[in-house]
Amino acid sequence: MVKSGLLDKYREAREDMVRLLGDRGISDERVLSAMLKVERHLFVPIPLRSHAYDDAALPIGEGQTISQPFTVAIMTEALRVKDDDKILEIGTGSGYQAAVLAVLGARVFTIERIPSLLKTARQALDGMNVRYVSKSSDGTIGWKEFAPFDGIVVTAGGPEIPKTLVEQLKVGGRLIVPVGSHDFQQLKVVTKKSESNDYTVEDKSDFKFVPLIGRDGWPETDG
Ligand code: SAM
Repeated sequence: MVKSGLLDKYREAREDMVRLLGDRGISDERVLSAMLKVERHLFVPIPLRSHAYDDAALPIGEGQTISQPFTVAIMTEALRVKDDDKILEIGTGSGYQAAVLAVLGARVFTIERIPSLLKTARQALDGMNVRYVSKSSDGTIGWKEFAPFDGIVVTAGGPEIPKTLVEQLKVGGRLIVPVGSHDFQQLKVVTKKSESNDYTVEDKSDFKFVPLIGRDGWPETDG
């Protein structure tokens, strides 16, 4: 996960990134410490490694991106992960968000719709000593076999709150999901209140995510 001394030539850049996240308002020390541990450069294409600790989204192929560190931090903070929590991630992408969740102590279940991205993400995640389960599929229908989850994070933007994902939360569990148009989405924190799937919604900041494509997302032609 983290190499010591000379081998970790990105350590200083990672410390600067985490300091910036703190300056931008991320206050959960556990989240900051997890992001200090996970080597983001191992999740970006080799030619882009010198930019791995910029607070920016970067291309990872197939028209997709590794999310901006600030976005990862705000979503992870909103999940309020506790040790051993079962967390479902929709949109594995590079695997970076999954790595941060695993380092926080979560049992991570992650779904990516593009098989080639999942293959690369698995290589990066397998290089770390973390526990996760993954599959390539439409994540908008969740992962019933492992439900209910303590938390679900959707890392692509959809037109509405995916109801199946609310159903797959535990009561008290939180779904973090960007919802809006193609051009921008508002990050929503959905808290499930009862077994009959009542929920409350708290709105966070506006973001621009890649589209959530699937049954409860945008149609395939939008991808
Ligand atoms: N969490 C990722 C990371 O740390 O790199 C961010 C990846 S990117 C912003 C969002 C990902 O969601 C893309 O890889 C995209 O292919 C994927 N995606 C979009 N719709 C999906 C769906 N219905 N099910 C699973 N993955 C989906």
